Amino acid sequence: MAKAKGAIVVDTARCKGCGVCTTACPTKVIELAAEVNGKGYHYAYMANPDSCIGCSNCGIICPDTCITVYRAKAGATALCKTHKGNLVTHERIKINER
Ligand code: SF4
Ligand code: SF4
Repeated sequence: MAKAKGAIVVDTARCKGCGVCTTACPTKVIELAAEVNGKGYHYAYMANPDSCIGCSNCGIICPDTCITVYRAKAGATALCKTHKGNLVTHERIKINER
């Protein structure tokens, strides 16, 4: 059976670059960017998007609730080729509410 497919959206403007999410991710999806946001923090981003299983660990553990987690809708078989395998909006369900 294929692994669950997930995706996250990081509110990069609010991220303080603490890195807690990077260590909480079981599949090493998240890294801190080389660039900084408006507050001067190296923000989190999906460095390895294909590895996200939508477990929601990162969304739960972020102390500033900066991460929204999505998981493929049951029965959704096609992932968006245009977006290099990332989930497209109509195939997503939101796991956590931020
Ligand atoms: S846990 Fe939240 S605040 Fe910390 S780096 Fe990750 S997204 Fe940013
Ligand atoms: S949802 Fe799970 S697998 Fe995906 S980035 Fe967050 S912690 Fe990693």
